[in-house]
Amino acid sequence: MEANRIYNFNPGPAMMPLPVLKEAQTEFLNFHNTGMSIIEISHRSPAYEEVHNKAKSDILELMGLGDDYEVLFIQGGASLQFTMLAQNFATKEHPGSYVLSGSFASKAYKEAEILGIGKVAASSKEDDFRHVPTQDEIKLDPSSAYLHVCYNNTIYGTEYHYVPETGNVPLIADMSSDMLSRPVDFSKFSFIYAGVQKNLGPAGVTLVVAKKSFIEHSPESLPTMLRYDTFLKKNSLYNTPPAFCIYMVGKVAAWIKEQGGLTEMAARNKKKAALLYEAIDSSNGFYKGHAEKNSRSFMNVTFRLPNEELEKKFVAEAAENGLGGVKGHRSVGGMRASIYNAMPYEGVEKLADFMAKFRKSNI
Ligand SMILES: *Cc1c(COP(=O)(O)O)cnc(C)c1O
Repeated sequence: MEANRIYNFNPGPAMMPLPVLKEAQTEFLNFHNTGMSIIEISHRSPAYEEVHNKAKSDILELMGLGDDYEVLFIQGGASLQFTMLAQNFATKEHPGSYVLSGSFASKAYKEAEILGIGKVAASSKEDDFRHVPTQDEIKLDPSSAYLHVCYNNTIYGTEYHYVPETGNVPLIADMSSDMLSRPVDFSKFSFIYAGVQKNLGPAGVTLVVAKKSFIEHSPESLPTMLRYDTFLKKNSLYNTPPAFCIYMVGKVAAWIKEQGGLTEMAARNKKKAALLYEAIDSSNGFYKGHAEKNSRSFMNVTFRLPNEELEKKFVAEAAENGLGGVKGHRSVGGMRASIYNAMPYEGVEKLADFMAKFRKSNI
């Protein structure tokens, strides 16, 4: 770890791979001999277009997808996708169906509900979102325009460990907090999106990976910037793209490739998560995990301590030990350690050691 940097367990914006930050720093003042930085050059210049198109092709390569899929870069965060999805695909006759597995899944549904075109296919709200609804729990209306799932529930710390079977209904996933963290059969999805600030880059762009045939015709009544077909036809360059964000996402994708791709990411992420879950499970109930075991996330590990006073103390002492951002979301309380691709094993090891020591001195 670089001097003066901490292990940052924030959920998003989150830790970035150090080599990526350093590379960006090195080439910032003079990007590829243009005499300008990446944020000063034209988005119509060959130097920028190369960055843009390389990021796209690396992402498709990592996901094992061919040219029947397209990568789009859209602003407005993952949250804008919630309404764009409903407006582009759902109607009263063919509503958008939703699995409610946490707060972002519920927010996505709410946007369709506002328009009167949303339907709930399953929900785990009753058990405080401790589990991801199983295939058996999903009651999918076959006339649905799509089934929307949130693949990793950032706040509750649960993650899908299967791909829902939807018959002829297109499958859409919000993968904001687990995009490119593990291999998945992405070809089973018609549309995947991710606000990149969790696992892939700085806040400011949302990555969409979708089947071209699924996004090629938006309803005539939709404004230009809310239409997926605008982004598809114009290579996400209809208006000025957030060039710096896309440049950083491209660097992260290249870094993942260099590290060994999604298989390697998954191996590392599993190993990191196992260390923290072991620290929870071996604590004799001092630490209580929020997620049910078979729904546990490899990205966000959520747990509580015996009381709120100890939780405050845990956050403060962790920070003193160079472990930042471990405070959980207010809706779950307790702790949340976000351990995305960029978090090194050593950081997680340090947190697990800290957890063991903290328990011993506070029981
Ligand atoms: C953070 C997050 C969002 C919201 O992303 P914004 O880019 O802030 O709109 C949506 N879904 C999931 C799963 C998230 O983790």
